[in-house]
Amino acid sequence: MGLKIDTLKELRELNLFDIVKDVFDKALKNGDLIYDENIEFERVTDPESEIENEIKIVSGLSKRPNNRASEPGNKDEEINEDKLNEVIEKNPFLKPEIELTVIDSLLGNYRLILNKFPNTKYHFLLVTKEFEKQDTLLKPIELQLMHTILDNLKKVSNKEYFSFFNSGSESGYSQFHKHIQFMMLPDGFCTYQSNVVRGVNYFIPKEIIENRRPIVYEKASYKHYILKLKEYDMYENEEQEEDERDSLAILYMYLIKRIMNIFKEFDMEDKKLSYNLLMMSNWMMIIPRRSAKFEDIWQNSLGFMGLFCVKNKELRDKVMNIGISKILQECGFPMEEGERDIVYNEYGY
Ligand code: AMP
Repeated sequence: MGLKIDTLKELRELNLFDIVKDVFDKALKNGDLIYDENIEFERVTDPESEIENEIKIVSGLSKRPNNRASEPGNKDEEINEDKLNEVIEKNPFLKPEIELTVIDSLLGNYRLILNKFPNTKYHFLLVTKEFEKQDTLLKPIELQLMHTILDNLKKVSNKEYFSFFNSGSESGYSQFHKHIQFMMLPDGFCTYQSNVVRGVNYFIPKEIIENRRPIVYEKASYKHYILKLKEYDMYENEEQEEDERDSLAILYMYLIKRIMNIFKEFDMEDKKLSYNLLMMSNWMMIIPRRSAKFEDIWQNSLGFMGLFCVKNKELRDKVMNIGISKILQECGFPMEEGERDIVYNEYGY
């Protein structure tokens, strides 16, 4: 009988990191995970964006199963029923391996499981118990679970985690069953997102007010929008929990509206939205995506966090030759000059 957590309060009080660590260490010892502890990595500062990046060669990547509903670049994105049934049948998240399960029932509808092919130690996923498509929008409770888990890991165990959601055909996802990922930041790694939100207070975004538009780091080569999250010292009652859920939902829907506008601007309204959503305990960011890969270099959320994972040395050399900024720009949408001053018509889609 696995662990069962019924409320956010219970979740907040867990020492989640120790539980993840125990399950991970045991699974690694028993060969239930594909993970090489001696991964080579290097830190490079991209000369154009001045963003620090970590590049790692993760051999487990080539073993990862692909269970997509449609291939990137496919004009006809409609998924037929046969394809959907095939995807559901091959789905590893519907009946996850017991050895990889961290929380068997979370708020009734979710599970936490370890990533079988982790990029880093203690990499885990939040998955829905029932099959749901990866390209459905995040529900307010799912955003709140992301935030509660990040907060827990930071407050209870002092671990700096981030969370991400790859959604849509060009987002770089590999599994079509709805899942959100949680990964620890490498030691001493400082993200540009945390730098640009430093000193910014929480605000509800509004297009027509200049200092209420989302935050951008203008040296980045790709469009992205960052919002500061509301922080709570303590959760005292259900009203506060509801307030947090509403706040996250408003911010997320605002970011979704932003990227709908981008798809319109680039005459891609006939396409389903593809994007990466990233979150840390005090910010959330969205990156609209037009391509899952540049040449044969695939990207999901991680490259936009400054974390590059490649299958082998040839790809590592290729990334360095092409340049990180160029790859991310081609996978996303090019940053425009004065991006922060552009007023998008929120309701013009
Ligand atoms: P994404 O590529 O963003 O769709 O994320 C899916 C993740 O699921 C990948 O990081 C895989 O390593 C992971 N994965 C694939 N198969 C399994 C499995 N059987 N159990 C747990 N995680 C898995």
